[in-house]
Amino acid sequence: MPAVVLVSIDGFSAALAADPALRTPALRGLAARGVAAAGLRPAFPSVTWPCHTTLITGTAPARHGILGNEVLDRASGVVLCHEGDRCDTPPRVPTLWDAAADGGRSVAALCWPKTRGATRLADNVPEFLDQELFEAWVSQPLWDEARALRLPVERYAEWSRVRALSPLQDWLTLELARHVLRQRPPDLLLVHFLTLDSFQHEFGPGSPEARWALEHLDMLLTTLLADLDAGGRLATTDVIVIGDHGFVEVGRRSLPNDALRAAGLLRVNTSGQVTGGEARVVANGGSAHVYVAPGRGHLERAREVLAAAPGVAEVLGPETFADLGLPRPQDDPTQGDLVLHAAEGWFITRHATVEDAATALDYRGTHGHRPDDPRLHAGFVAAGPSIHTGTRVGVLDQLDIAPTAAAILGVALPTAERPPSPLILRRAR
Ligand SMILES: [Zn+2]
Repeated sequence: MPAVVLVSIDGFSAALAADPALRTPALRGLAARGVAAAGLRPAFPSVTWPCHTTLITGTAPARHGILGNEVLDRASGVVLCHEGDRCDTPPRVPTLWDAAADGGRSVAALCWPKTRGATRLADNVPEFLDQELFEAWVSQPLWDEARALRLPVERYAEWSRVRALSPLQDWLTLELARHVLRQRPPDLLLVHFLTLDSFQHEFGPGSPEARWALEHLDMLLTTLLADLDAGGRLATTDVIVIGDHGFVEVGRRSLPNDALRAAGLLRVNTSGQVTGGEARVVANGGSAHVYVAPGRGHLERAREVLAAAPGVAEVLGPETFADLGLPRPQDDPTQGDLVLHAAEGWFITRHATVEDAATALDYRGTHGHRPDDPRLHAGFVAAGPSIHTGTRVGVLDQLDIAPTAAAILGVALPTAERPPSPLILRRAR
């Protein structure tokens, strides 16, 4: 039975996948001998942590429960930071690695989001931003082996936090993947690279730096494929390379919390921290959740203020949430009562004052918008013994990935919302 290598290139857009000027021989080679899609529709919000959870569960955020990189937990009043897995909130539904383990197949995950505490992974280095989380949650044997190989894993968190150091983070991830493939080749290998996302945020999606990042990651992919080949496993491995979302060029920062504060609906202290109020925005770049306290007229007032806030294109109410793959606010304490969509060229941040925002990182590119914008569509290429050869298909959905990989592995993932994709697989197993 084939093995699966699933590589996520963060921020790998359909636009970059289709760009004929990019020197990406590994991606092109996979496309030539396998399937290339016109795009891969992301989940909403189209940010890393909800999207990876959709990719790995085959369910929309309404089911898996990861509703943003950051959300507010109304029950506790605490902002939950899914990004970097700083909160202990695993997906609410079974994952592909659960299904594989249930079916007796081994799994390794390197820098894959939401693998904190995933004890069924044979080898696991989760994606974190804090070194103490790495030290607490990694597979210890793998971590010890990495140290013995003089891989500087004690720098993983720093290299993950500092955008300019993303290539070093990805080098560590690659070398861990190569080591695992040599020592304990798993039936399912999950790998996540971040340089392309970092450089698109920092320099913009069309920048030379972003284009270099994809060409650089293609070289890492070439190395991984060469290792598979040298180990005699390329012919029996299905390699799937995906992005989690595309990117939009931006230049202006929208501060809806500043508008709420000015309208008397949000209170902040002198350091800019939220201390109370009737409405509060938690941002995800191209969109944001709005949490409104119960009480007469609060929702209407918040809606009115936010609709007039600079950089806000739309204020979406609960009647739109099911179509967006989001839960009803009454069913999930982290779902906003309203959702904001950013105006063209703007990105939304959490800051409640202009002074506070001035100290934050700047963005030339972002994502998080609705998936009906094709700029947010990700790239998809795949090749291997289970996959059609030399085929171009239209836009696939992130919901297709987990059930399709499960079918290749011969394991069951009954909670996935879609069947395995016949557009990818030669025959549904
Ligand atoms: Zn991402």
